Amino acid sequence: MSKKYALTAPYYVYRIAFRSHDIPKLRASHWIPCFPHSAREIWVKQRQIRDLLLAIEPGAQWEKHEARMCPRCHRWVVGIQAQMMRDREQRARLKGEASPPCSDYCEARSGLPLKNLRRWLAPKAPES
Ligand SMILES: [Zn+2]
Repeated sequence: MSKKYALTAPYYVYRIAFRSHDIPKLRASHWIPCFPHSAREIWVKQRQIRDLLLAIEPGAQWEKHEARMCPRCHRWVVGIQAQMMRDREQRARLKGEASPPCSDYCEARSGLPLKNLRRWLAPKAPES
């Protein structure tokens, strides 16, 4: 896979709903904070976590969804919205532009342009 495509590859997450157990408490980095989260429902980022949860309750209901985090405001979207966000990112990248806002409410988390942000982070490796 070329690097250019790796940047806009679809990213998948899993929604899991238990019927007869409570879901064990997971590390915050394993689930998606702004999605529904209850004792019996959770959205997780990794297939391995899904497999572990399904091992606890093999009859649990689960689905796979495309998801994407807005690179500007860090809001997560899912399904068709994620697909559209990925298309916009891909087009912007091909034109050498920054990612467009995801919505009217999208506000960049950082006031620094990406180039300056990278310099600010150096020499640490950027988070992948
Ligand atoms: Zn956004």
